[in-house]
Amino acid sequence: MRALPASLLAACGLIATACGGTDSGGAAAGQAARAAATTPASAPASAPTQARSQAHAKPQAVAGPLEGKTIVIDPGHNGGNYRNPTAINRKVNVLTKWKPCDTTGTETNSHYTEAAFSWDVSNRMVKILEARGAKVKLTRTDNNSVGPCITQRAAIGNKAKADAAISVHGDGAPATDHGFHVIMPKKINGPVDPVVADSSRLGIAVRDAFTKGTGLPYSNYIGRKALDYRNDLGGLNLSTVPKIFIECGNMRNAGDAAKFKDPAFRQRIAVALADGLQHYLKA
Ligand SMILES: [Zn+2]
Repeated sequence: MRALPASLLAACGLIATACGGTDSGGAAAGQAARAAATTPASAPASAPTQARSQAHAKPQAVAGPLEGKTIVIDPGHNGGNYRNPTAINRKVNVLTKWKPCDTTGTETNSHYTEAAFSWDVSNRMVKILEARGAKVKLTRTDNNSVGPCITQRAAIGNKAKADAAISVHGDGAPATDHGFHVIMPKKINGPVDPVVADSSRLGIAVRDAFTKGTGLPYSNYIGRKALDYRNDLGGLNLSTVPKIFIECGNMRNAGDAAKFKDPAFRQRIAVALADGLQHYLKA
């Protein structure tokens, strides 16, 4: 059997629906291809050939690169958490210890909150990733309410059977500390163990895309080359899907904070994070 041109194989392999089809042109190509598969070899080949060339002549109908992938984004904290300390401070079991259900998160010196930052970046990510074909779910629906607990944030990713999950944060370290870091799970003899290796791959992909897309430096205060591994975070310990946290920078550092307050820079962050997820999911 004659091999198909490599370029055609690549296009059909990477973008399945471009060859299988969801629009009218693509669907016709898909039907033609199925017909070709069941038609004797002596049958005229003109119909499928024609349909295929039509499908490939319509690049706007090509499915996004993340078609079929589910991504859960956890915008850290919640803007209403401060209003209900009883609920937020309730202790929950994260397997290696008991921790508060959630925290209020940090803020910049001018009171731009981490909850607002993570909410904005996460919603930008939703738009970008959905445009690339992914199914995306957030762990909270607004930035004015309380919770959910860190245990529930992990459960949402598990229930969605996410191909990848990411929790978006900004850190609250001393003012001279700056730069970003990624946090990945460690084995804890628990439910996260089977996805520790994939989470590490995800973390490295996001680290590389983040530094390329934002130009922000690696953290000068945590981790090695912006990579940190922890076994005390409920959002990671309880995850059964590949998951990481990113601390996009230090909100208490004037340089990092100035960037976070700029919507154009938050868009750069969102694109960079989406790129990191995509690199991991397409690898
Ligand atoms: Zn946080």
